[in-house]
Amino acid sequence: MPATDTQKNRNNIRVICRFRPQNGKEKKAGGADCVNYGEDDHSVAISGKGFGATMKMFTFDRVFNASSTQADVFETAAAPVVDEVFKGYNGTIFAYGQTSAGKTHTMQGPDLDDFHNRGLIPRIIDSVFTHLEEADASLEFSIKVSYVEIYMEKIRDLLDVSKANLPIHEDRTRGIFIGGVTEIHVGSPEEIVNVMKLGARNRIVASTNMNADSSRSHALFIVTLTQVHSESGSRKDSRLYLVDLAGSEKVGKTGAAGQTLEEAKMINKSLAALGNVINALTDRKTNHVPYRDSKLTRVLQESLGGNSLTTLIVCCSSSSFNAPETVSTLRFGERAKMIENKAKVNQERSVAEYKALLKAAHDEIARLKGK
Ligand code: ADP
Ligand code: MG
Repeated sequence: MPATDTQKNRNNIRVICRFRPQNGKEKKAGGADCVNYGEDDHSVAISGKGFGATMKMFTFDRVFNASSTQADVFETAAAPVVDEVFKGYNGTIFAYGQTSAGKTHTMQGPDLDDFHNRGLIPRIIDSVFTHLEEADASLEFSIKVSYVEIYMEKIRDLLDVSKANLPIHEDRTRGIFIGGVTEIHVGSPEEIVNVMKLGARNRIVASTNMNADSSRSHALFIVTLTQVHSESGSRKDSRLYLVDLAGSEKVGKTGAAGQTLEEAKMINKSLAALGNVINALTDRKTNHVPYRDSKLTRVLQESLGGNSLTTLIVCCSSSSFNAPETVSTLRFGERAKMIENKAKVNQERSVAEYKALLKAAHDEIARLKGK
């Protein structure tokens, strides 16, 4: 994706910030709008009671104000990622922020049947199929989707509820992947939306059965794109992770009922580990990055300082009522801006291509010898 002016290079994690309007509850609680937008679409300052006369200033690759549309966010945050996935790169988009800051609204949309307000995932899917229609006829494609949830350090398959604790594996060709996860081959945008609906329903059912709150789990929608050149046989595999993270607020504040301290710690483990991984990646003094400390960071290892083009969307409320959480969310985003990934095209050459390359090299040598 093209580097934006505040992004040091295209391998850095792009950080985009989105505010939602104040809701009725916040207004009732005496909240005022605490966001001061810069004129350049990149900077924002938060004012609030706790900060005295000073305002906290932040800059990002892009700041979206509370009246931005789903289409605006898609164009900036996701359209360039889809282009890169078709070139053979891995991509990741994840949404971070406190509960009710707009993560699900941004990633999925308020309602999968509300076409106008569709979030990033349905729009990305449409864009993938548009790319397919416009692609070179000699390319063959396959698209697979998986949908999982990480809750209490267990990976649950949202497309097959009987798989409640999936393992993470790693091998040389596939990189890091979730072992035994359901992968559904899809041939149309409608099929994918149906898969999303099934996953979303299972997510609600599972959280109700366990008496848990779905805002405490991470949802990962995974699209795998394979492109095979029909003549040469060369192949590119790319994976796109679309992640709706658990709420970043402290468990204590919302006071999940009946929860033991151990449970509370476990729930936050993946998110705390994400913070630690980001700190380790941005702190030049540390060599050890604790990816293995949680399921989330292990699955997303390639997206954090590895082989992926990654975009983080930090979601925030505009209300002074939530200003301290907003500042903490924006600080997380600022830190993530400094992570550098090492993205490369996931291409394998076919035997025919290697032979052709070798022959070209031999011919060139012969030509030079002949001279
Ligand atoms: P989260 O997933 O972060 O917990 P949600 O996405 O569920 O939060 O958002 C909470 C509520 O606020 C939902 O009713 C959602 O539709 C609304 N909302 C979130 N972001 C926006 C926005 N940018 N514009 C309008 N409404 C929004
Ligand atoms: Mg949500």
